Amino acid sequence: MVAVNSPRSVLQINREAIVHNVKEISKFSGKRIIAVVKSDAYGMGVRFVVPILNELPEVEAFAVACPEEGVVLREMGVRKEVLVLGGVLPEDMGAVKEYDLTPVVSDIEHMRAIGNDPVRFHIKYDTGMGRLGFVEETVEDPRITGVMSHLSTPGDREFSLVQIKRFSSIVGRYPKGIKVHMESSAGVIYRIPFTTHVRVGLALYGEKPLKDYPLDLRPAITLKARIISVKDLPPGFPISYGRTYVTKRRTRIGVVAFGYADGLMKVLSNRGTLLYRGREVPIVGNITMDMTVVEFGDLRPRVGEWVTVVGEGRTFGDLARVAGTIPYELMCNVSARVHREVI
Ligand SMILES: *Cc1c(COP(=O)(O)O)cnc(C)c1O
Repeated sequence: MVAVNSPRSVLQINREAIVHNVKEISKFSGKRIIAVVKSDAYGMGVRFVVPILNELPEVEAFAVACPEEGVVLREMGVRKEVLVLGGVLPEDMGAVKEYDLTPVVSDIEHMRAIGNDPVRFHIKYDTGMGRLGFVEETVEDPRITGVMSHLSTPGDREFSLVQIKRFSSIVGRYPKGIKVHMESSAGVIYRIPFTTHVRVGLALYGEKPLKDYPLDLRPAITLKARIISVKDLPPGFPISYGRTYVTKRRTRIGVVAFGYADGLMKVLSNRGTLLYRGREVPIVGNITMDMTVVEFGDLRPRVGEWVTVVGEGRTFGDLARVAGTIPYELMCNVSARVHREVI
């Protein structure tokens, strides 16, 4: 077989930017970092992101959603603590012990799954997230090495302070010296005085979790795809499935090798734009599985050139706003077909 070394789409991860963002989060919070790399590092690729983070002393631990994700980190050679945020079921205990994972216990059934096994674990409290965590009861056990909670609405100062106060009184029941963590990327703005670690994901990539975010982050991700066809069309010519766009004049359209199967959500059809040499070009017609049509108008792009989906000053957050979603969802949608590289 002949090797294909000209990918149609590339996601570039900028090592320097991630290192800068880690140092900035560490400096701003004054705390060590639990790097949240669930869901394949938010779709960016643990194989590429984790080796960068693993070398940094500011990153003391990793957090993933489920044991399978923890096993992937261990098989990559990660020796730092690996928290499993999504609880622990009886079937998970083999992997927890064999791979030295740290479950987060948030339900009495998780305690039952652990039983008398000699494993360390963290306890999660629900102070107003309304998802995982103990509400009324306190769990005490000598194997507990950390307590955590999670902010539901970090943009709402009043409610966040209620959650922080509740968590403060819970933390008071535990011995000093254990890990205490509550702040996510957005949550770091509260500089909670009694937590020992911050638990951040999104900010690692330079994506701002809040509109007015006081940290100086650098965008770490560029996502681009190649133009595979360019042609001129007369006025009144329909574009793509369903003919949801019709050319208004004689115009140049291009087909970009990037569709909803690559992560460009169909809802961006006739709404979003891509960037060609720094200029915004509108997405016209329906985004299809593997291809998206853009209108170049009078620009003169050539087949084989690149257009930018994210990068050149545009973030996942910017695109998410147009799509009516959050950057997390767009990032997780970037599929395995997109070639990854660290630069
Ligand atoms: C995903 C997650 C985080 C990280 O949130 P970011 O906004 O990406 O920093 C922190 N804590 C928990 C419990 C999470 O599920």
